[in-house]
Amino acid sequence: MGLGGCEEVGRSSFLLDIGDKILLECGIKLTPKETEYPLQVKTNLDVVIISHAHLDHSGNLPHLFLESNPLCYMTQPTLDLADLLWHDSLKIAGIEGTEEKFSVKEIKRTRKYSFAIGYNRKMPITKKCTLEFFNAGHILGSAMTKLSFENRTMLYTGDFKVEETRLLTKADLNVGNVDFVVIESTYGDREHPDRKKTERDFVEAVQDTVDNGGIALVPAFAVGRSHEIIDVLHEYKLNASIYLDGMAKKAAQITMNYPKFLKDPKFLGKALNATKWVKNERQRNKIVEEPCVIVTTAGMLEGGPALSYIKRIHADENSSILLTGFQVSETKGNRLLKTGKIEIDGIEFKPKCRVQKFDFSAHAGQSELLYALNKWSPEKVFIVHGEKEVAHTFSKKIKEDLGINAVVLKQGKIQKLD
Ligand SMILES: [Zn+2]
Ligand SMILES: [Zn+2]
Repeated sequence: MGLGGCEEVGRSSFLLDIGDKILLECGIKLTPKETEYPLQVKTNLDVVIISHAHLDHSGNLPHLFLESNPLCYMTQPTLDLADLLWHDSLKIAGIEGTEEKFSVKEIKRTRKYSFAIGYNRKMPITKKCTLEFFNAGHILGSAMTKLSFENRTMLYTGDFKVEETRLLTKADLNVGNVDFVVIESTYGDREHPDRKKTERDFVEAVQDTVDNGGIALVPAFAVGRSHEIIDVLHEYKLNASIYLDGMAKKAAQITMNYPKFLKDPKFLGKALNATKWVKNERQRNKIVEEPCVIVTTAGMLEGGPALSYIKRIHADENSSILLTGFQVSETKGNRLLKTGKIEIDGIEFKPKCRVQKFDFSAHAGQSELLYALNKWSPEKVFIVHGEKEVAHTFSKKIKEDLGINAVVLKQGKIQKLD
């Protein structure tokens, strides 16, 4: 049953009932107006599985520990990164005076009841069910989940990337036989532009900005994207000072604790060492006096140091704001792209500097999704984690191209496996 993340991107949460009750994900959906939660779990859970740290998959997990103590399984980097994001949610709630659905106490209990497991190791999680994680290539520690029960097998992809990135190796699609697949469909209706070309165009835009005496502001997600960008800038030997700011710094420290989960930890280590980490507001004032690159959170301009930098550089025609991630509609980043305007602390700015978006997506595009499904050839596919129209378009495409039965999972509705 889908509790969230059905015909939408966000608040992923799916309940699998095989006699044992297994919850896949416990996410939230952050919108500029409010936080949306998945439907409440109305049964005693045996196990919760979290595929990766992003809040749309992990954000509501501590809330479950207000009234229960289910066992949770995820990789160790997922636990550490989620822990960082949970504490950050509490901090933001404190600043904004909004109510959070859990406290530090529940975060501690979540950690206590969480078991970290690595990739490619079979683990019995209930009397009936065995779990195995496979690398999903999406962010540090992201996993695809294979469940085996009563001679049946199910693969839940979580968010995954078939192509390798600078930061991570590609998803491990060799998962063995699967009868059912629950698949994400974020880009189920379209393809990504060529990655190498995106990288080149991006670095060129950064170099042009700096050569013209401007500041290249690069808003990026704290977990994953910011480090991918640092890697790319280093790879192309960008000739300029590079700064890292915001929560991306703490996430970088966690990332470097897990070299085995990275494609080239030495390279990232070198790239991060060559990057200057911004400590405070005074330093922010100082660094914008000289041309440079600043990689900072928030990726969709919904807070973080990125906004304070925009206030400093908006009037400078030589500077640029180079967005590197998906911009959810109604976020400040999305509005800036659409209208050329951005509101910060109640004041509307119309930046004169260049504003551009680059597709550094960590999700599989349509043909990659189909390639994976064709390889797995399951009996039946359940589609999640995609906007309504996208999910249904993808469903049709699976039936037409692969002849596999595909259904779009619906919020609150029970869906039989067979
Ligand atoms: Zn994700
Ligand atoms: Zn997601």
